[in-house]
Amino acid sequence: MTATFDVINPATEQVVDSVRLVTAEETDAAIARAAKAFPAWRAVAPGDRARLLRRFADAVDADLENLARLEVLNAGHTIGNARWEAGNVRDVLHYYAAAPERLTGRQIPVPGGVDLTFAEPLGVVGVIVPWNFPMPIASWGFAPALAAGNTVVLKPAELTPLTAVRLAELAHQAGIPEDVFQVLPGKGSVVGQRFVTHPLVRKVVFTGSTEVGKQIMAGCADQVKRVTLELGGKNANIVFADADLEKAAAAAPYGVFDNAGQDCCARSRILVQKSVYDRFMELLEPAVLGVVVGDPGDEKTEMGPLISHGHRAKVRSYLPEGAPIAFQGKAPDGPGYWFPPTVVTPSGVRDPLAADEIFGPIVAVLPFADEADAIAMANDTDYGLSASIWTRDVGRALRVSRAVEAGNLSVNSHSSVRYWTPFGGFKQSGLGRELGPDALAAFTETKNVFIDTEG
Ligand code: NAD
Repeated sequence: MTATFDVINPATEQVVDSVRLVTAEETDAAIARAAKAFPAWRAVAPGDRARLLRRFADAVDADLENLARLEVLNAGHTIGNARWEAGNVRDVLHYYAAAPERLTGRQIPVPGGVDLTFAEPLGVVGVIVPWNFPMPIASWGFAPALAAGNTVVLKPAELTPLTAVRLAELAHQAGIPEDVFQVLPGKGSVVGQRFVTHPLVRKVVFTGSTEVGKQIMAGCADQVKRVTLELGGKNANIVFADADLEKAAAAAPYGVFDNAGQDCCARSRILVQKSVYDRFMELLEPAVLGVVVGDPGDEKTEMGPLISHGHRAKVRSYLPEGAPIAFQGKAPDGPGYWFPPTVVTPSGVRDPLAADEIFGPIVAVLPFADEADAIAMANDTDYGLSASIWTRDVGRALRVSRAVEAGNLSVNSHSSVRYWTPFGGFKQSGLGRELGPDALAAFTETKNVFIDTEG
């Protein structure tokens, strides 16, 4: 019997589609086809590979509204965010389309001969994607991998397969051979695991929870398989007394409640200098209560639902009777997996409300004494993905940016993602970098060739 998975609209709880789950045997067959397609794909002339990626980007652009509406339906993303996400895929493809013609090696002076280095593609790359940003995260894996001459098998999250399936159709329509880029909707424990264990998959790119990331890394160790990991975060938003408090408080809800807090870069711990704590909370309250939660297809909506019933139950479990709620916005009653934007004031950084990646619209606010205290609190976590620093003091901005153990820092901003700059985590937030030139290097292996010219 063929197993299928019902795709549910999290804003309505209606079934919108049913997707067939790929089996372990089908995964093996897909990997074998990808391995067979590799020699021809790596041999495609750089200019032709670039042209195919640009045509894929143009196909995404032409389909942008459809892709965005699919994501509203499948993931409950607001339409504004979903348009940005589809646009990000287009831009990432254009950025890496410039790569095939620029991916060069080196010639290093040596006595007695010529020494050459080559940037060789790896072979089949397995990309495993989470449900929180299905489109961009898929493209951060497949675009640089394809540009560097690898073939790709990609597994979307069980809950959110629709846009990945559509992206594969667009790639094939653009002329990228079917076996070069295959999307395999299925279970992590089946399809994802085969990416880890199958010897013809030469690299796994995994984005998801730190817990599963550790299993992937351990599994890859057996074959010394290359791995890039983009994992969880519990990111600090540090507000110093000399900051533009109005600006910091107005931006804070966006920093954490965007995508209903289901964002690895969500600034879910706001650390505020004691001397301005009360004033900051006064400014934060109306900003939080003003967040518009509702129909994600409505242009005015700022926050949609959580992804699933089970995920909402997990988020809810953080707020038992007597939880330190400072204030809470409003959300629709249902149907739909709604949760209101919530501000809590836990006792310290190791309180689960301040330490765990809740991955929902709950933000912890904690006071700190001075710069050293702020840095110590920001670093008192196993995560290290991103952080924001709000201050008017340039020296402090740079000092604190250097001292905070995180991969992506923003000063007077919450911006973390630009497709042309590196993205990734310190400590248990990940391994390796995506986006920018770093990602391209991560999809090649350096080969050194010495040619004796002495005869
Ligand atoms: P998850 O770890 O449960 O699943 C991620 C993907 O891995 C899914 O496709 C899932 O099917 C697959 N998977 C699950 N078990 C597997 C296994 N044993 N072997 C192989 N694959 C397996 O994560 P999620 O709940 O989908 O996503 C939320 C998490 O992703 C959060 O922790 C979030 O912080 C993280 N995330 C990180 C980044 C980043 O760039 N650092 C970006 C987005 C999300």
